[in-house]
Order: sequence, then structure tokens, then C-alpha cells
Amino acid sequence: MDYKILIIEDDKKIVNFMSMALRAKGYQIIAAHNGNEGILTFCTENPDIILLDLGLPDMDGIKIIEQIREVSEIPIIVVSAREQDQDKIEALDKGANDYVTKPFSMGELLARVRVMERLLEKGNSNLPEKVYKNKYLTVDTDKHKILVDDIEVHLTPIEYKLLVVLISNRGKVVTHNQISKEVWGYGETGDSKNIRVFMASLRRKIEKGPSSPKFILTEIGVGYRFTEE
Ligand code: CA
Repeated sequence: MDYKILIIEDDKKIVNFMSMALRAKGYQIIAAHNGNEGILTFCTENPDIILLDLGLPDMDGIKIIEQIREVSEIPIIVVSAREQDQDKIEALDKGANDYVTKPFSMGELLARVRVMERLLEKGNSNLPEKVYKNKYLTVDTDKHKILVDDIEVHLTPIEYKLLVVLISNRGKVVTHNQISKEVWGYGETGDSKNIRVFMASLRRKIEKGPSSPKFILTEIGVGYRFTEE
């Protein structure tokens, strides 16, 4: 399938660089050089994925995320020079699907785009497949069973929810706020310490080397990302 990607970015060099690399991979590219043009192009061109810069000449990219999220669930990857955790958290909490910090490698960006493609192919259903397998880990959401090397491990209900939330969003960063909303049912807790405790015990149960995790990766100060492989 030919995905159409809208790039909203005022730096023409970056637009050219991204367009060339993405076209070489078979994507259709349309570009907008400021926020208003971006929103207009989104409305008229019906893209599949948006790559969004935050520092635009006429508006803050966060506003674009807000406006688009009122009408659409289109995958949005923020590509920004802002590297503060707070900026990433704000963008993700407003509904961006992922965040790439400039300068970025094209390989990294392409991998993030592929994650969004898989999200689109899954038809946006938030639930993972009934049985998820990755290396030695098996998660059977039908039977609520977790196997490590085919041996059942017992998770607490919170650990189980945590794992399912991460797997449903695999490949993407999930912020602390999103985790507390999904697992505990409320957001804005500032309770990342609490999450860390549960995450540590979950890792001890499913990771073979909990100190160098292969499945649950930490995005320092922001949240966690379940490996996309
Ligand atoms: Ca910019």
C-alpha cells in the first residue's frame, strides 16, 4: 500500500532530506512549511501519517496536534529539536503517537514510520492479538497467561495490565501519564515512582536480564517503550 505522508516543517533542508529518503522507500510525500498550510493540507489531501515539527513560524506544533486530534486519529510523529522531557510528554499527552528528536538518523525515523504503518494495518484496534509471542515470551490475553520459556509466570493484576498496555502500544513511547490513566484509571499523578516500582517487578518476571531489558525499554524522564520486534 502506498502511504501518503504529510511533512509539516519550515526548514526546507530537512523537508528535502526527509522527502528524498521516504520517497526512495515508496511513500508519497506532501509538505507544508507552516502550521496553517499544514492544517489545510491535512484537510484537503487526506494523508495517512503526519511528521510534525513543533517550532513553526506561525504557530506551535502542539496546537496542530490539538486541532487534528479533535477530528482524526491519524498517526502523528513529532520531529523536533526540543529535547526537554516536558516537551515530549506534552506532545505525547496531547495525542502525538511518537517523538523523534533532531538531529535524527533517517533509519530511526523510517523505523518509527513503519510502526505507524503497522498501527494502520491493524485497523487501529487497540487490543493486541490474542496470543502475542516474542522470543521466549508468550502473552495469552485470552487465558490471562504469561509464559517465559513455556513456563507460566504469575503477574499481579497491575503488572498484567501494565504489560498489556505496553504491548498494545509496542514500538511507541507510552508516557507515565498514559500508563497511570490506562492501568490505574487516572492521569496526571506525577506518580512515576510508583510506576517504576511495578515496572521493576514486571521486568524481573519477564526479562532474562532485568538490568539490561530487551522488552521494556526506558525512555528516560518520559515513559516506556515495548520493543517493536
Ligand atoms: Ca522549525
